[in-house]
Amino acid sequence: MSTTGKVIRCRAAILWKPGVPFSIEEVEVAPPKAKEVRIKIVATGLCGSEIKMLENKTSYLHYPVILGHEAAGIVESVGEGVSTVKTGDKVITLFLPQCGECASCLNPVDYLCTERKQSKSGLMSGGTSRFTCKGKPVYHFANTSTFSEYTVIKEISVAKIDAAAPLEKVCLVSCGFSTGYGAAINTAKVTPGSTCAVFGLGGVGLSVIMGCKAAGAARIIGVDINKDKFEKAKKLGATECINPQDLKKPIQEVLFDLTGAGVEFCFEVIGNPETVEAALASCHESHGVCVIVGLLTDVQLNISGSLFLSGRSLKGTVFGGWKSRESTSKLVSDYMAKKINLDPLITHTLNLDKINEAVELMKTGKWQVAHIIFMSECLGPRKRCVGAGGGSKQEEMAGI
Ligand code: NAD
Ligand code: ZN
Repeated sequence: MSTTGKVIRCRAAILWKPGVPFSIEEVEVAPPKAKEVRIKIVATGLCGSEIKMLENKTSYLHYPVILGHEAAGIVESVGEGVSTVKTGDKVITLFLPQCGECASCLNPVDYLCTERKQSKSGLMSGGTSRFTCKGKPVYHFANTSTFSEYTVIKEISVAKIDAAAPLEKVCLVSCGFSTGYGAAINTAKVTPGSTCAVFGLGGVGLSVIMGCKAAGAARIIGVDINKDKFEKAKKLGATECINPQDLKKPIQEVLFDLTGAGVEFCFEVIGNPETVEAALASCHESHGVCVIVGLLTDVQLNISGSLFLSGRSLKGTVFGGWKSRESTSKLVSDYMAKKINLDPLITHTLNLDKINEAVELMKTGKWQVAHIIFMSECLGPRKRCVGAGGGSKQEEMAGI
């Protein structure tokens, strides 16, 4: 029995208001409207950005809301006029869309599709939500809302990927990996032989390290206040790691001493105004580039103008500067061709019921690496099945 055109009842993690834990609820997911796609989420990561949302450090959210923006799944059905994906396709969700038609999409050096603005309203086209819970509409988040077994997303926020791709791995291409890797490759444009420093060694920071290494950096210095992060950072390419709390001098002075003239590329992957200043001050005075990857919405920076006088620059990045739809499909192909490795970024696999546990693991830094994967337990519209496995089982779970 096809679910196309019908409301699907499934489970989702709802945030009813600021400051409360997620609550696992049954939700109704409406069929996709024109140019929308309904997706069975198979795996979704928990990103540092969700932690920021939970800490309520942004005015960005509307409540109740379904968070989640880093996922992979299978298309369950498509709305009218959808031409680029079909039922059964494996896809990655994209918080940054690529419509392919706006001035930004048509500009080869611009990656910020103008259609992304929809994400701030938390509503889909027509100013409505596709989710309801206990009779109330529930807001969408970041164009994606992946902490639900099914979600509805605009076609322009969905990238079709290799049918053989393991969704529980490649979901990291949906945010953490691509953001970090792209920050090094696209935004900073790290050069061969250069010296880099990465502040914050969560899943995104480790991906920056992989990007710096791929770009040929000679020296990559990892910086984190949690020394448990160092081993993996070194495995992935860090040449040395420093805990600022072990130092007598400020980290920027130590990095100057270590490198002689400051690092050429520095990345802030924490989302903290103080570490942004330290990262910028760690850069080479004449040509050092500091990239802010950490989320700093609704935060003012207080940075001395003198840091810029001699030529340093400071820039930001969203999603690592990739044009989202075309690049994520290619990054998944690169994973399949073993050109990139996502596997070391995954240390925990939990199901949706454990989402609050996952948040605690992430907040306390007790997990080794940031991105935690939720394998859906598949409360499909018709049957309850437990666990998630390879291709054919996932297809069965998607009800297709
Ligand atoms: P994470 O929490 O796993 O990693 C953060 C790391 O920073 C941790 O290892 C923590 O120990 C370390 N840290 C905290 N305070 C520190 C300090 N004062 N000095 C040194 N290290 C410190 O998070 P993540 O998932 O890796 O995400 C990192 C940041 O990237 C977050 O701010 C997230 O919102 C942001 N982000 C931005 C984008 C984007 O498009 N720009 C995309 C994804 C994530
Ligand atoms: Zn993210």
